[in-house]
Amino acid sequence: MLLSSCVIWRFREWDDFRAECPAGDERLQRVVWEGLDEGIEWLESLGAPVVKHETGNPRTIGKRFEPRGLTDTLVRAAGDVRLGTTSEEPTILATGGFQGDSALVREHIHPGGELRLRANPWSAGDGMRHALARGAELSAGLGEFYGRNMPDADFTEEQFVPLAQLYGRAARVFNDRGEEFFEGDVSWSENDLVQATAQQPGGRAWYLLDREALKDPEVAGRVALAPTRIDPSDLPFAAPDGTRVAVRVKPGITHTIGGLRIDEHARIADGLYAAGADVGGISTGGYASGLAAALVFGRIAAESALSGL
Ligand SMILES: Cc1cc2nc3c(=O)[nH]c(=O)nc-3n(C[C@H](O)[C@H](O)[C@H](O)COP(=O)(O)OP(=O)(O)OC[C@H]3O[C@@H](n4cnc5c(N)ncnc54)[C@H](O)[C@@H]3O)c2cc1C
Repeated sequence: MLLSSCVIWRFREWDDFRAECPAGDERLQRVVWEGLDEGIEWLESLGAPVVKHETGNPRTIGKRFEPRGLTDTLVRAAGDVRLGTTSEEPTILATGGFQGDSALVREHIHPGGELRLRANPWSAGDGMRHALARGAELSAGLGEFYGRNMPDADFTEEQFVPLAQLYGRAARVFNDRGEEFFEGDVSWSENDLVQATAQQPGGRAWYLLDREALKDPEVAGRVALAPTRIDPSDLPFAAPDGTRVAVRVKPGITHTIGGLRIDEHARIADGLYAAGADVGGISTGGYASGLAAALVFGRIAAESALSGL
């Protein structure tokens, strides 16, 4: 959360949520969609700083918070935060998914293990391992992940957002063999293109841009920042006429989409609950706000644990 852009959002229309994430568990989606506005009000009532009161996307509704201020607000509200200790039951698992564990990523998402990590390194499946040992079940879509195509080069956590190559819709996309592999329109989150890139030889791709694409200052700005941009004549295949620049990209995994199966009360088993990216099956088949799901189910998990549900 601290590393994120901190836009906490939902689809404005329920039908859009279903259409964008068609394989997600409808009951869990309903809970997030109906509970988010109240969750955001609760954050504001605690004093969490809002940077923008809208998302900038007409299809979604939500707010952008300042991540450090939001984190500090939650820590203050929690009061007695203790690290390195094991609590008694009940337990709420919220370790943030398993993208930080390369063995789990190879097992469930990418056998070649060629994805770069675009997230904190500590969300490494501890919640999942703990719950599985207690008889938990896994959600559908365990092989899916949310991410961005990034330059195929090392990057720091400060570069997670500025180096995201979020202009695949304006590019022609080829793999190393010179095959144009993505059919149809790229979705607005570009997560479908990112997942398709992961399936290519070497788990990478080339974005090819012509003069028309580079007229968009947003696209041109991102291309200019990419350390892996090259002249088209240096490509391993013949570029289509009119190509001005090529950028080597590779998926960076932000968080897992599959994970633990919970019910509407965030329950896994007696005394065991989960929230956030440890939970799977909410945005399966697409992408929806991970922070929104974490906020709504985090509060529900706490209420369930307190009431002994
Ligand atoms: C660059 C970037 C931009 C993003 N932008 C957005 C955005 O604008 N909107 C949006 O909705 N989502 C965004 N996200 C995704 C969002 O950050 C996650 O969906 C969200 O943080 C998940 O919440 P969480 O509580 O499950 O996990 P996290 O926020 O990752 O928190 C999990 C915490 O658990 C800790 N942990 C792990 N294992 C253990 C253990 N064994 N014991 C104790 N602690 C442990 C981790 O260190 C971490 O601090 C972005 C993410 C990134 C990286």
